[in-house]
Amino acid sequence: MVRAWTTRFAPSPTGELHLGHAFSALTAWDAAVAAGGRFLLRIEDIDATRVRPAFEAGIFEDLAWLGLRWETPVLRQSEHLADYHAALEDLAAKGLIYRCFRTRADVAAEITRAPHGPSGAVFVGGPLAPDEEAERLARGEAFAWRLSLAAARRHLGPAASALTFLEDGHGPEGEHGVIRAAPERLGDIVLARKDVGVAYHLAVVVDDARQGVTDVIRGCDLFEAAHVQRLLQALLGLPTPTYRHHPLLMGPDGKRLAKRNGAPALRALREAGETVADVRRRIAEAVGSS
Ligand code: GLU
Repeated sequence: MVRAWTTRFAPSPTGELHLGHAFSALTAWDAAVAAGGRFLLRIEDIDATRVRPAFEAGIFEDLAWLGLRWETPVLRQSEHLADYHAALEDLAAKGLIYRCFRTRADVAAEITRAPHGPSGAVFVGGPLAPDEEAERLARGEAFAWRLSLAAARRHLGPAASALTFLEDGHGPEGEHGVIRAAPERLGDIVLARKDVGVAYHLAVVVDDARQGVTDVIRGCDLFEAAHVQRLLQALLGLPTPTYRHHPLLMGPDGKRLAKRNGAPALRALREAGETVADVRRRIAEAVGSS
């Protein structure tokens, strides 16, 4: 089956959209228009501790103002938690995940103690001994589920080191073309958080496949994510989209544009009387100086 060219913009409603988001959304939208393809909007709202309905409403307003149109119904990840759990069950049945009871502080301390081998400063803790795990479970301690890179390698065999993805844009170091997936750069990632029961990488991989996304267009801060998402696709038997990572807009301080370094919210620009052409001009200037 030929899948129609499809891309998506997948914001998390945890704040107001600013110029950096507009750049990402417009890059995906313009590419969809140029390809005569589909443009989807996906609301990545699994983190119930941080999402706010007002931010979600703001996303719809801002994107409509920018002139974007998207298919409905819009997928909201909070309405599909059962699907992410099913994917987690699949990985569990293959023996690829383990419970992690560590706190953030424990993980940080273990990373600091770890010898700096080829995997660098990432966490590869592995499961606890069965009796200690049983004890902690009996005490009702909270745990996250992590992907075991070692188990994933055993599961895939030689194919594990032959996983690649196509980078149509550029990674932060100019990476382009066929890239060998190196999920070890992120270590044993969390697939289900202690607090919200699912985590970003798993939900994204399940949804990109479910929605038939052929081209993932997003900021190059997520280039590393593609490495581990490629591995998850292989483990779950899902197709791999083409990736096109775009540069990040930089603020006047030379740091990535963000709310905290003065990135103007799109709503504020609109209310100040700016037009979409003004926003595109601001983006072109910020891209030029990045
Ligand atoms: N929800 C993610 C974010 O807002 C984007 C995920 C993606 O594009 O893969 O940063």
